[in-house]
Amino acid sequence: MEKDCTFCKIIRGEKSADFVYQGESLVVFKDIRPHAPVHLLIVPRKHIRSVNDLTEEDRDILFEMILKGKEMAKKHSIADSGYKLVFNVERGGGQVIFHLHLHLVGGR
Ligand code: AMP
Ligand code: ZN
Repeated sequence: MEKDCTFCKIIRGEKSADFVYQGESLVVFKDIRPHAPVHLLIVPRKHIRSVNDLTEEDRDILFEMILKGKEMAKKHSIADSGYKLVFNVERGGGQVIFHLHLHLVGGR
């Protein structure tokens, strides 16, 4: 856990978020500035800076994140119409929160 990381603060309960799922190894909450009717962030509890920092040790959490994205898409009725699962990587890739997260974006 990183002291000043926004998503670590949300996970620790020091900052509020609109949670839709809270599990042992990951949480899902609504993006504060949604780009689409469904815009969720799938976030591991473990502080990992970005995709660049993933290691073999993170194999299971990465798989869980993608499965949770699929499950959330179904739950929010966008599985059939379609959606995006996106990792922004580092500043040039549009990342502004340096705690790994997968965007689930879809609906209209
Ligand atoms: P990224 O550009 O991939 O780093 O995405 C970070 C996302 O986090 C942006 O879409 C922000 O709108 C969202 N965000 C930032 N702060 C919060 C917050 N406190 N609660 C929910 N979403 C947030
Ligand atoms: Zn963090």
